[in-house]
Amino acid sequence: MNIDPAITELEPEMKRWRHHLHAHPELGFEVHATARFVADLLRSWGIETHEGVGRTGVVGVLRGGSAGPSIGIRADMDALPMTEARALPHASRQPGRMHACGHDGHTVMLLGAAHALARDGGFSGTVNLIFQPAEEGQGGAMAMLADGLFPRFPCDAVYALHNSERPLGEVAVHDGTVAAAADRFDIVIHGRGGHAATPHLTIDPLPIAARLLLDIEALPGRLTNVISPAVVTVGSFHAGEAFNTIPDTARLGGTVRCFDQTVRRQLEREIIGRAKAIATMHGATAAVNYESPFAPTVNSPQHAAIVAKVAEKVVGAHRLVRNPDMEMGSEDFSFMLEQKSGCYFLLGQADEAHAAAAHDPDYDFNDALLPIGASIWVALARHCLPS
Ligand SMILES: [Zn+2]
Ligand SMILES: [Zn+2]
Repeated sequence: MNIDPAITELEPEMKRWRHHLHAHPELGFEVHATARFVADLLRSWGIETHEGVGRTGVVGVLRGGSAGPSIGIRADMDALPMTEARALPHASRQPGRMHACGHDGHTVMLLGAAHALARDGGFSGTVNLIFQPAEEGQGGAMAMLADGLFPRFPCDAVYALHNSERPLGEVAVHDGTVAAAADRFDIVIHGRGGHAATPHLTIDPLPIAARLLLDIEALPGRLTNVISPAVVTVGSFHAGEAFNTIPDTARLGGTVRCFDQTVRRQLEREIIGRAKAIATMHGATAAVNYESPFAPTVNSPQHAAIVAKVAEKVVGAHRLVRNPDMEMGSEDFSFMLEQKSGCYFLLGQADEAHAAAAHDPDYDFNDALLPIGASIWVALARHCLPS
């Protein structure tokens, strides 16, 4: 490992920040204390700091010795609505809230890099430090974009990382698509309830919903080309209370995952269309709510090559993995990558004490990753913005 000396010096402090954030997790856009913690630190290092970008986002503007191009580096700040299982000394003090995706670590890695770059410089142009709320499906990236993120803080390219289940220190860089789009749908079939003994007097929504479930889960590979992977899963199905009563409504909730925008739009159209058609066919109606909180995350090969080159210098060639399988998980940095070229890469954190995957109640971010990620950000800034 080739850790930046300023980062090595800062490591004990980074660990303390991480444990503080981990113990005080906040959800969605309500990351008020976390945003304040970030903004206070940035200001204490003399960095121009903007709060309230996209409600609770923070942007630090770090200017180098002379004018030049600019990059954006994004970290996410929000936690998950779940209860931590392990009794760690820095475990969450808030039952029902937990940093189970490692966003506490992402935030601290970017803070560490900001501190080193603010103190030691070694770059020209501008590094925009983007601290985002509400990554876990509530649209934080979109909120920052809608609040003028890029017009206000111009970036020639944007970068982000996520910890992963790969071995500690392994960096995975994709030249194109990294992570799937994830859509969410909620369908209510409105029929007409009645006695189970006289179904002919009702419009039973259950068999309609059941037909619809079988129909839409079969769309990938039948409607869409198997060459382009896609999954439709109905994860919730609710109808009725009593064994001898036909209810008025049945409700289906599910998700669509795929890597291609054309496939994505095709599946959206078909799910909505089939819900309405199958309901109509049986004399019922369907109300469909369809949301797209995550686009496919797609890197530019040029910026992926830059990250690979920089990361290799930090972690060594034997820890660099190029173009592994795409991730079925999703990331809302995808919306920033739709507007600016850049690269989102994965940083492995698994060792014996950190075997649990993200979103597992046993998960904890691996502190050994803090200096590695921060060093990659410092090296990337100096590489992209040479002084
Ligand atoms: Zn997550
Ligand atoms: Zn995450």
